[in-house]
Amino acid sequence: MRALAAIVAVYGILASANVTADDNHKHIGDEVNSLPLFDAHIHYKEPAWGPYPPEAVLKLMDDTGVAMGLVSSTPDEGTITLWKHAPRRIVPELRPYHGNAGSSNWTRSPGMFEYLRKRLDAYPHEGIGEFHLHNVNPEDETLLRKIAATAKRRNLYIHVHSGKEPVDYLFNLEPDIKIIWAHAGMTEPAKIVEAMMETYVTLYADTSFRESDILNAEGAIDRDWRRVLERFPERFMVGSDTWVNSQWDDYTHLIALNRKWLSQFSRPIAEQIAYKNAERLFGRKVSTQLLGKR
Ligand SMILES: [Zn+2]
Repeated sequence: MRALAAIVAVYGILASANVTADDNHKHIGDEVNSLPLFDAHIHYKEPAWGPYPPEAVLKLMDDTGVAMGLVSSTPDEGTITLWKHAPRRIVPELRPYHGNAGSSNWTRSPGMFEYLRKRLDAYPHEGIGEFHLHNVNPEDETLLRKIAATAKRRNLYIHVHSGKEPVDYLFNLEPDIKIIWAHAGMTEPAKIVEAMMETYVTLYADTSFRESDILNAEGAIDRDWRRVLERFPERFMVGSDTWVNSQWDDYTHLIALNRKWLSQFSRPIAEQIAYKNAERLFGRKVSTQLLGKR
């Protein structure tokens, strides 16, 4: 009996210790569903224009609580169409891809810099990207140096889909730029992402396509990802990556998946990643009041 009482007493102490720890690091849980989201990785590419006219895109955003999004498109006309339709909900950024210039050859496309300069003069893009750099190629240096200098001069983000090396390369070309690392490095492990965040104070990332890395097979947060997200919560934003129409078809589920992993962080961290970082980065107010408006 005495042993049992001792066990109960010890268990009671442990249980109350857990309550205290939980209070300090209490996860936001289902309350995450009432937060507005900023979707930092939207594409509105030409194949989507027919099945998903601007009204349909805004309806998907409204229905999922996505108050605002960072949009880049192939070609850029998609972004501008969406931005004109809902200027308070859309932050435009300039994707280089158009005509024959795509993800694998855009850096060697004739007239590329002139194209970018003209579009940046014509529209209020706040970033250049999302573009792919599959590797560091010396042939690309002239163009990338000009892009980095332009981004710095115009105070634009560079949104790059790449592994670690091209990010190092861009910061080496122009240390004072601001980079949004698409898909948080895509295939780079969390430990590399953490080291990069530590190295570059103006490196940010969207977590699109990383949901199944951040969430482990049991639906909990991967330990390495929890460490980097809790150490640098001011640098991450969620994203859907609507790069093909099936992502639009799946948009409601994708956003729910993002809320699912955010629900397992404290309220302050969930709020930062959901929308507060975007408010700071883009100088806007991201609120549920925007839902249903344009
Ligand atoms: Zn991408």
